[in-house]
Amino acid sequence: MNDERERFLIRYAGDFAPFVVEKAEGSWVLTTDGRRILDFTSGQISSTLGHNHPRIAEAVERSLREVIHLNSWMINEDVLELARRLAELLPDPLEQSILLNTGSETNEVAFKLAKAFTGKFEVVGLTRSFHGLLAGTNSVTFSMGHKGFGPNMPGSFAIPAPYEYRCPVRHCVRSCDMTCLDVGFDLVDQASVGSLAAMVVEPVLSAGGVIPLPDGYLRAARQKCDERGMLLIADEAQTGFGRTGAMFAFEHDDVVPDILTVSKTLGGGIPLGATITSAEIAEKAVQNGFLHITTHVSDPMPAAAGLAVLDVIADEDLVQRTQKMGAYLMEQLRALQTEFPQIGDVRGRGLLVGLELVEDRETKQPANDLGGAVTEECLRLGLSMNIVKGDGSQRNCLRLAPPLTTTAEEVDIAVGILRTALRTCL
Ligand code: PMP
Repeated sequence: MNDERERFLIRYAGDFAPFVVEKAEGSWVLTTDGRRILDFTSGQISSTLGHNHPRIAEAVERSLREVIHLNSWMINEDVLELARRLAELLPDPLEQSILLNTGSETNEVAFKLAKAFTGKFEVVGLTRSFHGLLAGTNSVTFSMGHKGFGPNMPGSFAIPAPYEYRCPVRHCVRSCDMTCLDVGFDLVDQASVGSLAAMVVEPVLSAGGVIPLPDGYLRAARQKCDERGMLLIADEAQTGFGRTGAMFAFEHDDVVPDILTVSKTLGGGIPLGATITSAEIAEKAVQNGFLHITTHVSDPMPAAAGLAVLDVIADEDLVQRTQKMGAYLMEQLRALQTEFPQIGDVRGRGLLVGLELVEDRETKQPANDLGGAVTEECLRLGLSMNIVKGDGSQRNCLRLAPPLTTTAEEVDIAVGILRTALRTCL
């Protein structure tokens, strides 16, 4: 089986899983060799309603009968309805959407809008960020390698992420004073050729180690942008639509970005994303030449899935539920931390939670071998979760992101497996 996979599939992400999937439902993935795996990754943090939610299936089936795909300038009712619903969910002035497919695409489009609006081209991101792996987005994805692919987009800058557990600037553990933001912008101002267009941030640096931005950080970033005439882009690929216990994570900081990008969680597993901004920004960008006629822009089928996702989030009260289950998961993991000194930090928001494994709580030396071993053992015992690589040098951050529909029983199973795996691997 492995030979076949390695013969016909490019190994785009290292090794493939040690099984082949037969089907997936709810929080579970079932394999062809009869295993049941509790999926605390929600696929790629996308299946927020659980795998194969019947209402997504119904919506897609309806769309398959009515209309799957259209020329880019033809809009069907579902596309319009989804754009309307997004505007209703969002604060003013976020009102106009372009419906796309992947997270990389939504961010590429956000950069294009910002460039067309400002007439400038430089983009600032945070170290440990992830915004996509296409040329523009990869240039500000600082949690992954840039090596070997030629030049980054000119004018791509990184400023230090507010990583409180390992503060890179003042070592102010759990008391971020945002010096990193000040220092970062001082450096950007020196390096800039006077063409700053935008800053892009994830409210929780997920691939970078599940690092929630400290309270007030987005507001301070907003101010830095305003002072420089830059647009603030919030990338809510993972955090949008309830994952953090708010409909959008920027709400935690009482700030409205100029441009919002959403993807993964909007389609619940179907490729759907949106870049959303104000009428003012969109209109000026269009006047200045903004154009994005991709094959699947405004496709009806993913839009139908997106409407079903929004309906289920409302009908099943998933935002509230995420607050509750997130608090329960956090409580269980904090209890586990008291049993294992190797769990250096437990952090996150809602149902996007990370554990950082260390050799020693004083030195905080990353327990990289342990991270790999525990993840492997968990999978053998029936729990799937991710190791996130931080800045590329760490393999000690484990990410748990179950579907928002997960139950307390499933959380107990997951934490039980994690406990057993830690005992086995230590
Ligand atoms: N932004 C964030 C925050 C992400 O986590 C990801 C995917 N991991 C992306 C953008 C890129 O999305 P995609 O892989 O759909 O292009």
